[in-house]
Amino acid sequence: MHDLVIRKGLVVDGTGAAPRRADVAIDADTITEVGDDVGSAHRVIDADGTIVTPGWVDIHTHYDGQVTWDPELAPSSHHGVTTAIMGNCGVGFAPVRAGDEGFLIELMEGVEDIPGTALHEGIDWRWESFGEYLDALETMPRTIDVGAQLAHAAVRAYVLGSRAHDYDITADEIAQMTAIARQALADGAFGFSTSRTFLHTSKHGLVPGTNSTPDEVVAIAEAVRDSKHGLFQYVSDDIGQGGDEPWLDSLTAMACPTTYTLAQTAADPLAYRRALDAAVQANAGGANIVPQVAVRPTGMLYGLQSSFHPFLAHPSFRAVRDLPLAERAALLRDPSFRRTMLDEQPLTRDRFVNYLATAWNQMYRLGDVPDYEPVPEASAFATAERERRHPGEVVMDWLAERDGEAFLFSPLGNYFGNDHEAIREMLEHPATIPGASDGGAHCGLICDASFPTYLLTHWARDRTRGPKIPLERVVRLQTAATAEVYGLTDRGRLEPGLLADVNIIDFDGLTLHAPRMAHDLPAGGRRLLQDVDGYVHTIKAGEVTFTDGKPTGARPGVVLRSGR
Ligand SMILES: [Zn+2]
Repeated sequence: MHDLVIRKGLVVDGTGAAPRRADVAIDADTITEVGDDVGSAHRVIDADGTIVTPGWVDIHTHYDGQVTWDPELAPSSHHGVTTAIMGNCGVGFAPVRAGDEGFLIELMEGVEDIPGTALHEGIDWRWESFGEYLDALETMPRTIDVGAQLAHAAVRAYVLGSRAHDYDITADEIAQMTAIARQALADGAFGFSTSRTFLHTSKHGLVPGTNSTPDEVVAIAEAVRDSKHGLFQYVSDDIGQGGDEPWLDSLTAMACPTTYTLAQTAADPLAYRRALDAAVQANAGGANIVPQVAVRPTGMLYGLQSSFHPFLAHPSFRAVRDLPLAERAALLRDPSFRRTMLDEQPLTRDRFVNYLATAWNQMYRLGDVPDYEPVPEASAFATAERERRHPGEVVMDWLAERDGEAFLFSPLGNYFGNDHEAIREMLEHPATIPGASDGGAHCGLICDASFPTYLLTHWARDRTRGPKIPLERVVRLQTAATAEVYGLTDRGRLEPGLLADVNIIDFDGLTLHAPRMAHDLPAGGRRLLQDVDGYVHTIKAGEVTFTDGKPTGARPGVVLRSGR
């Protein structure tokens, strides 16, 4: 007699094997049988008509603060994620010295757009070292498993104090950082992360570590390699080139497991191919380089509720920006207000902001059923041409929809060809894994924690503008593939002996809704959420954690310690 049997679902087991009808038997937290007739159970879930997959493993999230106060970790947990790795892109909250907490919060607020007020109110700082941070996380029961990487900015702030942004540092200071990395990895860190991009800034400037010299980076990478379980993770401006960081050859030569965000960029739209080739070549020579790719264009959601839209810096709009949402939406529909706005110059000289605000050919109506692969004819620019109007008018129409709650989609990366073919090429490449969902971050402009759901709805089911990817392949990418890269060999496949993390999904009914703004972070902080229908049950370590999208309250999740 098993504890639980999932009966007669279409099993997509995470290995990439073709889907097959089978039962899955679970005892305690472990899968014990997968087959035709696994016998009786205390509880039976009839999975006829659904697909049964492993729980999603999302290795690129930013829940480092939220994880200290929130056991549930929405939005990711609502999208079938049962394991999340955080501490990406060089920002995190350990180690920390008493008095430096505000600095780390400001970094996280600036880089990842997580409200600082929410972090201030939410985090109860009960740690100094990275190991103590994990200990503190362990005191809270939680819905999903979490693992953390050590963030470069936190290490620099800890060792260098007010000189965290300095690069003229001593060999002793580098030795201190390396020692912290070795200890963190011994305590269970999943790796070390750093930022190399000018796009990631806070009011203090670039993220500490952005310009670190090879001697510092390589010394820390040696600690990662020596741990035999961690990864070196980075985000770079050279994302289109595969990275030409001055230390990358050293990491390759020492075979330090390395993962970075790869995207197609407008500056060099075919560079991603060279990056993929470079990874293949390096890996053939013994390196371990894993490009992480997004499953849809990386872009922003413009709206009256989000952090940006094209009229934010217009004097007339600034004058009314504190009005209730519906009133602002009504004004955008008012002919005389519109005319004034179109005649005005924005009050900013920031060239990047002005470029974004007038890139009408990169703005699309997202819609109630979001379309992330819009045809070029649907852009604000093309729509305006057709209707002989100013593109700004079209955008004002779109912003005013649903009384101001609607969002526009502006794809920035991965959309140079106006379709998803570059993304497909990257996703189908054997060296890559899906990443960059940034779960828990970019609360005011981006909502990509739904990436795992989108892999199924778009890539395996709905895509019309090009080839799809077979269901068993996308399931493998979000389960066994991501789990393996991070050394999580106890999960990611539906096989006897592995952890019973399972999604039971109404594949035909799986529906991703339009993003919406919620104000439910501590201190009333806002964040974008994206609702989904179709996750019939999510099971974590043998316990049902969600049914029909509603949390059951079960808390089987743990803090993972890599290498243990
Ligand atoms: Zn990130």
